[in-house]
Amino acid sequence: MTDVETAVPNAAGNAAAALEKAVQELCPGCGLCCDGVLFASVGIANHEPVGCLRARGIPLEPQPGGGWSFIQPCPAYGGNCSIYADRPARCREFHCGLVIRRAGGEITLEAARAEIRETRRQASQVTVLLERLGGSDARQPLSRRCRGRMEPVAGQSDAEVELRAELMLAVHALVFRLGRAFYPETSGPSDGCDGARKATASTPESALDATR
Ligand code: SF4
Ligand code: SF4
Repeated sequence: MTDVETAVPNAAGNAAAALEKAVQELCPGCGLCCDGVLFASVGIANHEPVGCLRARGIPLEPQPGGGWSFIQPCPAYGGNCSIYADRPARCREFHCGLVIRRAGGEITLEAARAEIRETRRQASQVTVLLERLGGSDARQPLSRRCRGRMEPVAGQSDAEVELRAELMLAVHALVFRLGRAFYPETSGPSDGCDGARKATASTPESALDATR
């Protein structure tokens, strides 16, 4: 084997190891791609086994083009993935922009963890505002919980007008941060995250309405 032939697998192995290290460093304290903030659902291809997902009580919806999906927050998420060995391919293949940058040495561990903390704080702020506006179903992804809650409603009080404005600002700030730090810059078919979606989203909350 030539030097070039041995260098290519070594480089690929090093990149995979760096990604895995970044995952170990960041994901246990994050969960944003499992808890309904970053994505609204997870897609499963036709050929993937779904029996084990059903056995774990994960409700699967058939998709018009074939395959399945289930909504987030993922029922298997409780601080970590309870079906890690059996998780769908999309979950295995997805690496957010922060993990990718950490693996490439473009961001320090401290800065990456600070990014996660601040994003989680912003997501919590959105949730609190939603609850103050009359509550919403925590089993739904954040995008759906926000839907229709930012528009003016006839007869609403001044306090409610202010709350809705506050919610809109909080959602905008969250969408901006997620777009800047978490959605991968370039996305292939395997990661399920369409970068163009962010630019074409018609409303702030629809920017979060993606399938992983
Ligand atoms: S959003 Fe990124 S850092 Fe957070 S759990 Fe998912 S892959 Fe890990
Ligand atoms: S199956 Fe696991 S990795 Fe995939 S969304 Fe659910 S908790 Fe996250």
